[in-house]
Amino acid sequence: MLVHLALDDEIQQYVLDVSLREGEIARELRMATSQVFEHRMAVSPEQGQLLGFLVGLISATTVVEVGVFTGYSTLAMARALPPGGRVIACDFNEEWADIGRPFWERAGVADRIQLELRPAVQTLDALLAAGAAGTVDFAFIDADKENYPLYFERCLELLRPGGLMAIDNVLLTGNVARPDFSDPETDSMRALNSALRNDERVELSMLPVFDGLTLAYKRACD
Ligand code: SAH
Ligand code: CA
Repeated sequence: MLVHLALDDEIQQYVLDVSLREGEIARELRMATSQVFEHRMAVSPEQGQLLGFLVGLISATTVVEVGVFTGYSTLAMARALPPGGRVIACDFNEEWADIGRPFWERAGVADRIQLELRPAVQTLDALLAAGAAGTVDFAFIDADKENYPLYFERCLELLRPGGLMAIDNVLLTGNVARPDFSDPETDSMRALNSALRNDERVELSMLPVFDGLTLAYKRACD
């Protein structure tokens, strides 16, 4: 039997009323983002809060983000880092990142955000080539879905044992579960989801919240 609570607007609003701690600068960035046509790509404020929560929970100091957009999720994670911590923020769209930058500055975390403007695979490969394997505490994957399997492999190598990965949009509005539905994004996401089921390098929990969020942490080598 499927046991779940169907969230209607009333319940969702209640959750926000009693638990959202967004902060004024993040709220203003969300408002600025809402002017962008693609604004729905940004995480919701409660998902941003979860990302910050996870970063703080594992006392992360080094975070990799794949897919920045206007930097709302970047801000949420950077705020959860200690001074001297770092988000290596990967995107190739400078116009969108420019929207976030003033808000990162006003929040006092711009010096914790290292924006890398090029195709994300190139940045991740450069980090690995520079010897960063095993040094990253937390990775958030949220860019082009076709490349998720590439991002997963590289981020897993970058993570330290016990390091945590959050992979966003793993349900793609439910399309992954509809056998008749096929497009390059959905096929790639299905392949990654299925591969993770049997991947012994990670502990796994696929959360059917937001648009589907998979949490995976890297097992210690035995
Ligand atoms: N995490 C963001 C949303 C990211 S949207 C938030 O919650 O606000 C996806 C982003 O991936 C877009 O900004 C897009 O420019 C970026 N992207 C798409 N393909 C990419 C690639 N090959 N390399 C780097 N970034 C890419
Ligand atoms: Ca997303």
